[in-house]
Amino acid sequence: MEDTIAAVATAYGEGGIGIIRISGEEALPIIQEIFEFHGDTDTFISRRMTYGKIIDKEKNQIIDEVLAVYMKGPKTYTAEDVVEINCHGSMVSLRKTLALVLRKGARLAEPGEFTKRAFLNGRIDLSQAEAVIDIINSTNELAQRNALSQLEGSLSKEIENVRNELVHLAAQMQVTIDYPDEDLEDITTDDIRNVAHDCKNRVNKLLSTADSGKILRDGIKTVIVGKPNVGKSSLLNSLAREERAIVTDIAGTTRDVIEEYINLDGIPLMLIDTAGIRNTDDTVEKIGVEKSIKSIEKADLVVVMIDGSGFFGDEDVEVLHATKNKKRIVLINKTDLGQSKYVEAVKAKANGSVVIEVSAKTGMGLDILADEIRKVYNFGELAREDSAVVTNMRHKTALIKA
Ligand code: GDP
Repeated sequence: MEDTIAAVATAYGEGGIGIIRISGEEALPIIQEIFEFHGDTDTFISRRMTYGKIIDKEKNQIIDEVLAVYMKGPKTYTAEDVVEINCHGSMVSLRKTLALVLRKGARLAEPGEFTKRAFLNGRIDLSQAEAVIDIINSTNELAQRNALSQLEGSLSKEIENVRNELVHLAAQMQVTIDYPDEDLEDITTDDIRNVAHDCKNRVNKLLSTADSGKILRDGIKTVIVGKPNVGKSSLLNSLAREERAIVTDIAGTTRDVIEEYINLDGIPLMLIDTAGIRNTDDTVEKIGVEKSIKSIEKADLVVVMIDGSGFFGDEDVEVLHATKNKKRIVLINKTDLGQSKYVEAVKAKANGSVVIEVSAKTGMGLDILADEIRKVYNFGELAREDSAVVTNMRHKTALIKA
């Protein structure tokens, strides 16, 4: 905590601007040593962007032309003195400037260390620190907004309120026991029970958001299953076309499982896909029903697909049977080729699941799919601006313990 730390704060790669952040007591002395002011100014005023050059005075070398800002603590990100240098966003400028800053006495910050300092200096609590990383990692608007509200303290506030009630209750009990003769209002068993119940309800209410909250953060793990050629990869492709966010190859699975985040009308889906499904007609062998059934276990949501233009047969019924205990939506595909003969037959076997007629090819019916998913996961509630939502396993465990 005594050290002054520094790091490149922006993403690696080329960009218009790259920022180096310095935090600690030496932040100002260091920038003063390596900065050449442009024009009349020769001092840093807190929170004022200052134009100048980064100079390696020993080598008599200009490193970059920059904008630098000094922010005096404690009202800063880390609650310490902070300096940010806006270099040109080339790795060379950034690396050279950072090297110079380190040479002048700063130490390279560890990952997350700026936020750690904000926490250790008491500016934010742990759930807020965790929210920072959730904002950075957010893959969809709802998750980002929720993390932001957590950063602003929505979750901390609700926990703090419950805690205060319990502390107050404990104090009242203590007083009643320790000073029975004083003229204080005694607390009754009923009072204790009421407050305890109320607190328990509030904790449970937070806990009830945890499952959807996790989904909000990680996306709904979705598997598309169905016999070969019903149109699974076509659906995947047309969903992915909507908005492709990130494609992740999960390490150690050699193309066996691919996870792809997509954003379907604001709903974060993490499509779990097996290599065979992704590849259309020509490449790689089609994946069998058996193999897709294995991935069903891992899924939050199963999309069962049936070819409405083909034959509704034993294999389809087998898929419906294998998924009957999951949250699922049944799609009858290829309805661009005409109304399917099997709608009623599928509904009869779908065990009450929603059945939607779609066309993966034209995109018809995919908006209804989005609406149905929204209903299944109660996203309306989550989208409320002010509500505290639990998205983090540690929070969930702590609440269960509480
Ligand atoms: P998968 O084996 O389940 O992944 O099926 P594919 O997505 O590879 O689709 C099999 C064949 O059906 C391909 O020739 C697709 O072009 C075609 N297909 C998929 N969806 C539709 C659809 O909605 N309408 C029509 N007419 N053809 C489709």
